[in-house]
Amino acid sequence: MTEHATVVLASGNVGKLAELQRILSSLPMTLVSQSEFQVPEVAETGLTFVENALLKARAACQHTGLPAIADDSGLEVDYLGGEPGIHSARYSGEGDAGNNRRLLTELADVPASQRSARFQCILVYLRHTHDPVPVICQGSWEGEILFEPRGQNGFGYDPLFYIPALNCSSAELDSDRKNELSHRAIASAKLLEALRGAP
Ligand code: IMP
Repeated sequence: MTEHATVVLASGNVGKLAELQRILSSLPMTLVSQSEFQVPEVAETGLTFVENALLKARAACQHTGLPAIADDSGLEVDYLGGEPGIHSARYSGEGDAGNNRRLLTELADVPASQRSARFQCILVYLRHTHDPVPVICQGSWEGEILFEPRGQNGFGYDPLFYIPALNCSSAELDSDRKNELSHRAIASAKLLEALRGAP
């Protein structure tokens, strides 16, 4: 990326916008939220994080005429064959607390040795609606699912996501530390590298 570009972030999440603005600040790019353009919500009908991220980015490109960045993320639990996966946000239909309750129920009789899991994040960059070679970056963060919630920080499954090397849950990390380690941090760092060399 050599010439200055305005790029739309296909998310209304102000936390994600601020974090990506910080990480990509060395690029000649102004990243703006899609909330400024009233981009309509897109149905996440893809079967993969990649497809869903592309659907969101393409809708933002189409509506704004600008290049777009989108992400899609979720929790993969090995014992559950990768679920909740792309269904992470809507696993219980009852928000974060319900999702965590359902996950604990599904794993009720599963021993610690079989509770491996990881957060996955896909970030995509689309230059325009019909861009045939989107930039696709992936980050993952390994952990285990706890037997009960721990910690107050973060969101989603953070209270149940245990990081053995740190002996804490991701909800026990402060946001700066999580932003250094997480699946989103890894994917974002890869996106920075990819965009440095992008046309
Ligand atoms: P989205 O990609 O931001 O829509 O996230 C999808 C869902 O995955 C969220 O609603 C959470 O349930 C889960 N998730 C993704 N990233 C995280 C995380 O860093 N901590 C906890 N839950 C997460």
